Amino acid sequence: MTARRTTAPGTTAPGTTAPETWVISGARPSGGEPAAMVISGGSIIEIGPGADAAGASRLDADGLILLPGLVDLHAHLREPGREDAETIESGTAAAALGGFTAVHAMANTDPVADTAGVVEQIWRLGRQAGRCDVQPVGAVTVGLAGSRLAELGAMADSAARVRVFSDDGRCVSDAVLMRRALEYVKAFGGVIAQHAQEPRLTDGAQVNEGAVSGRLGLTGWPAVAEEAIVARDCLLAAHVGSALHVCHVSTAGSVEIIRWAKSKGWQVTAEVTPHHLLLTDELAESYDPAYKVNPPLRTADDVAALRAGLADGTIDCVATDHAPHPLEDKETEWAVAAFGMTGLETALRVVHEAMVETGLLDWAGLADRMSARPAAIGRLAGHGSALPGAPANLVLYDPSPRELVDPSGHASKSRNTPFAGMELPGRVVATFLRGSPTVLDGKLAR
Ligand SMILES: [Zn+2]
Repeated sequence: MTARRTTAPGTTAPGTTAPETWVISGARPSGGEPAAMVISGGSIIEIGPGADAAGASRLDADGLILLPGLVDLHAHLREPGREDAETIESGTAAAALGGFTAVHAMANTDPVADTAGVVEQIWRLGRQAGRCDVQPVGAVTVGLAGSRLAELGAMADSAARVRVFSDDGRCVSDAVLMRRALEYVKAFGGVIAQHAQEPRLTDGAQVNEGAVSGRLGLTGWPAVAEEAIVARDCLLAAHVGSALHVCHVSTAGSVEIIRWAKSKGWQVTAEVTPHHLLLTDELAESYDPAYKVNPPLRTADDVAALRAGLADGTIDCVATDHAPHPLEDKETEWAVAAFGMTGLETALRVVHEAMVETGLLDWAGLADRMSARPAAIGRLAGHGSALPGAPANLVLYDPSPRELVDPSGHASKSRNTPFAGMELPGRVVATFLRGSPTVLDGKLAR
């Protein structure tokens, strides 16, 4: 264990200039009445109809929605090891353009983020990039191999102050290891984020098991393979009295199990991806690997249950599962193509379409599910609120345009979005990280 502590997340990164004073006028905080906001010293100073400050930089935000900066609990930034797919530099640029001010970076890098050294390296690269906070997720098991626990305490005590641990990409399928991990993180208020996939039930699986897999002749990934692990882990979390977070919930049955676990008062939280809120497995009938993802796209009934679960709070938050892959790993035949989709640059627009346009969530609800709740689950200070006194982590969003998604303009190094060519609402106009713009007029500001 290291006793060393450097600058805590939430303070100005070394090398950045002192944040200036801004007056943002006319925006509607969480979709409410238009107001002006004064930002100074990196924090929100005042919000109100007449808020003003002499000598400030000014941003006319008439007609824009003002939300707290989005927080992603689940992104694959690929560095170290797969810098051809994404780097922390390009991934945080994509995040800022999508309205995010904090992103949790999953541990399945090369080397795996299973030691204090690797998580500190990732955390420092995020600070250097300076566009959004990068909070490393630590691996649960050494090398994601599922045989012995990684140095969870050393990662928690490191400069990166890791609180979320996950073998994502793989399931911690051994019940004894999962129990020990839950017991271990309880001591420092951590959480185990499980990729719920029973491995034997999904051996060789390519697509949701059902009518579509039957028609395509591809091996199915049955809903029960997710639900069996979700149920087991809810019971383990209750038994241990520790915190479980369920990654990328994809089935109606998982929503029911999580609803039941929450009704018991157990420490269970869950996320859903934008793509599982909008897309169904019928898209796989195109054989286009853009739609190949793990867990797979499910049925329209599952999508409806996921939307209802997010609306009623059974599912706490949206997480992107941003999973960039180079062209050669995706533009190939379905059976050998990589699983995964990019998501950081389209998440807000997709959730707008799936949840706000349908009347299931208002803007305050969206701010809760994409900022406040993920910040709380990630134990992340300084994010999730756009009230006076909070760090000025904000996004300004124009809800009015409807435009085609054009991945050629994305900052991500990868282009594997399933939304390419789809018409979606909205546009991120500006993002502020601790009072400094990272995006202005829809373009990177630095
Ligand atoms: Zn996963």
